[in-house]
Amino acid sequence: MTLSLSASHEFTSHDFDCQSCGACCAYSAEWPRFSLETDEELEQIPADHVAADLGGMRCENDRCTALEGTLGKSVACKVYDVRPIVCRTCMPGDDECLMARQRLFGTAA
Ligand code: SF4
Ligand code: SF4
Repeated sequence: MTLSLSASHEFTSHDFDCQSCGACCAYSAEWPRFSLETDEELEQIPADHVAADLGGMRCENDRCTALEGTLGKSVACKVYDVRPIVCRTCMPGDDECLMARQRLFGTAA
């Protein structure tokens, strides 16, 4: 069992370490979009990491600009405490996780 990137990421049967992955944060610019966040929550996200259309996180080549580090080796979220809902709900081992890992690394496992 490993500690995940998100506090909402519970330990799962999958032994994925989010801090040495980051695939879901670099999967698509359409992924880290805002949904049910309150205005107060959105205001806490640093503006330089918010997309020009204000609808989600700013991405460069599908990678969220708040993700620091090297994919597949060591990563961290620079806005961890105020990250969007979609980032809190993605769980290691769930469908989105496996899809992102498959695309980024060529294998979900
Ligand atoms: S793709 Fe899965 S293992 Fe990788 S950071 Fe996202 S939730 Fe964690
Ligand atoms: S805000 Fe953080 S957790 Fe969400 S996609 Fe960006 S780097 Fe990943």
